Amino acid sequence: MSAAGKIKAPRGTYDVLGEQSSARAVLEARARAILEGAGYERIETPAFEATELFARGVGASTDIVQKEMYTFTDASGRSLTLRPEGTAPVCRAYVEHGMHKLRQPVRLWYMSSFFRHERAQAGRYRQFWQIGAEALGSEDPALDAESICLLAALLAEMGVASARLRLSSLGSPAARREYREQLQGHLRAHADTLSEDVRARIELNPLRAFDSEHPGTRQVMQTAPLLREFLDVRDAEHFAEVRARLDGAGVAYELDPTLVRGLDYYTRTVFEFTSQALGAQSGVGGGGRYDGLVEMLGGPPTAGIGWAAGVERILLAGAPAPAAPVPVDLFVAYEHAHEDDGSGHAPAGAFALLGEARAAGLIAQMELAGRSLKGQLSYANTLGARYVAILGDGGEVALKDMSGGGQDTLAADAVVHAVLRGLRTL
Ligand code: AMP
Repeated sequence: MSAAGKIKAPRGTYDVLGEQSSARAVLEARARAILEGAGYERIETPAFEATELFARGVGASTDIVQKEMYTFTDASGRSLTLRPEGTAPVCRAYVEHGMHKLRQPVRLWYMSSFFRHERAQAGRYRQFWQIGAEALGSEDPALDAESICLLAALLAEMGVASARLRLSSLGSPAARREYREQLQGHLRAHADTLSEDVRARIELNPLRAFDSEHPGTRQVMQTAPLLREFLDVRDAEHFAEVRARLDGAGVAYELDPTLVRGLDYYTRTVFEFTSQALGAQSGVGGGGRYDGLVEMLGGPPTAGIGWAAGVERILLAGAPAPAAPVPVDLFVAYEHAHEDDGSGHAPAGAFALLGEARAAGLIAQMELAGRSLKGQLSYANTLGARYVAILGDGGEVALKDMSGGGQDTLAADAVVHAVLRGLRTL
């Protein structure tokens, strides 16, 4: 057999390395501070769920369910799906754990990975991460406005350039039904001018016609009825209050009656943030109300509002987070005369000193690659180590203060104490 070939990560997936992982840690910490400060608690749901959850929750006619899910049958014959989004799983958990009995609204946030079999390109992956926030159990328009403000705050904090907020209301399911029929009538009347794709979906998902780039379809959509003309009084009032709260908070938005989100569960408020910094895949995050979703999943009638924002896109559109290196207090080095077994491996005393330093609460590292003493000192310097302990022949240790404070010779068991004392007098 020939030598084994290299195995690559699957298309549309990527490894999180070095700087990227510290940028993500910064994002996670900021999301936590903003969301937990507003009363949201972290939730983790499983990476896979019963396929039925998404078929019912996200909607059988959506692109996600029709084309993009990673669905498989497990050994016991159950159909399972890698989660393509986070709202349906959170609502499933709300029902499963009887969270309607808790004080409402129940507010939950997550930072998790999701899976969609989409065309992979810059900013669009098949495994991607989202930060999401869901608030269940209240239909107060102030909650819609607060939810939007929290995402606006996170994007601002991450330095997302020129984020634009589009806002609309989809109304109640009844208004949507009526509107849908009118829209279908309009599309059928102009079927010849529509793209094939849109024509094929008139019955299943006519709203998606607004998303089309096809010139004929765009022309037909210019005279299409708009949903806002169908909002009933209560929905219109709700939307007016959301807008008034946002105006009061000084959050700028544009009303976009054609805003259609690719998930079926939305009712009333919907919104989306885009950034020009992103090119074709300009969506940074979005969400809306889903007042019927919990009931659809077998729970009591429960209002809900939330959003999800793409981690990769926030990092792409945001100002690069400054790297925050971990300060090393002590680097344990050694002279090569210590190689008792001739292997070039570190002497036992170095490992013992490392353990002792860590037990005392110091941030410590040791030489692990058999570098020359000169190489060890230069490595300690790149790590920004404050002290370097060099183990010598006779069990004595030279403790070097890397901030220019000279060098002392000590017994090995006095090193940690000396470093602690040195750090205290900084
Ligand atoms: P959605 O759940 O489709 O509303 O998406 C919410 C946000 O998640 C989007 O605005 C994007 O920032 C991000 N997102 C969605 N799909 C992908 C993907 N395939 N790759 C990377 N980010 C994505």
